[in-house]
Amino acid sequence: MIKILIGTHNKGKFREIAHLLPKKYLKISPISLKIKSPKETGKSFISNARLKVKFFSKFVNYPVISDDSGLCIEALKNRPGIYSARLAQKHGSFFKAMKFILKKMERKKNRRATFVCSLAYKNKNKKTMVAEGRINGTISTKVIGNNGFGYDPIFIPKKNKITFGQMSKSIKIKMDHRFIAFKKLKKKIKI
Ligand code: IMP
Repeated sequence: MIKILIGTHNKGKFREIAHLLPKKYLKISPISLKIKSPKETGKSFISNARLKVKFFSKFVNYPVISDDSGLCIEALKNRPGIYSARLAQKHGSFFKAMKFILKKMERKKNRRATFVCSLAYKNKNKKTMVAEGRINGTISTKVIGNNGFGYDPIFIPKKNKITFGQMSKSIKIKMDHRFIAFKKLKKKIKI
């Protein structure tokens, strides 16, 4: 089997990326290799995804895939965006961060939001390819649903009436920003 390091400590992301990758790969987590995460000093999803893949590939001599993703809310000047994970850290949990967002959104008419994912893949020859996926939707008025991870319970993808948190994993995984980014990446490079 070919090894691939999925460069993320986020279990939800790991599960989704592992699911997108072909079966021929043995999917390795940085947690099992005791590798910590790099500092996210980039100013965009793409630069953070590149920074992560570069960092993780220093530890292995096989391919690495990393993502940087987040929720951009129009009425909040596209925040939390690249700071999505840090917002949850600041508030102590995703539930508290979602409550904070819903409070900020209380009187907002514009509830449009976009989940963005930049994927970066470095092959064993250390060549890097990147692709970005986006899915538009709206912010719900309540935290709804026990499925998924992160901000899934407050995001209703376009053409749907339920949040990602209410959807079954198998449906979300085939439509979200990570899936779209992966499809684009596959067009650029053989994975
Ligand atoms: P980072 O890419 O490590 O900076 O983290 C991105 C943040 O956005 C994490 O807190 C994720 O939980 C959140 N996020 C990214 N993608 C999704 C998703 O598909 N559903 C819910 N939350 C997500």
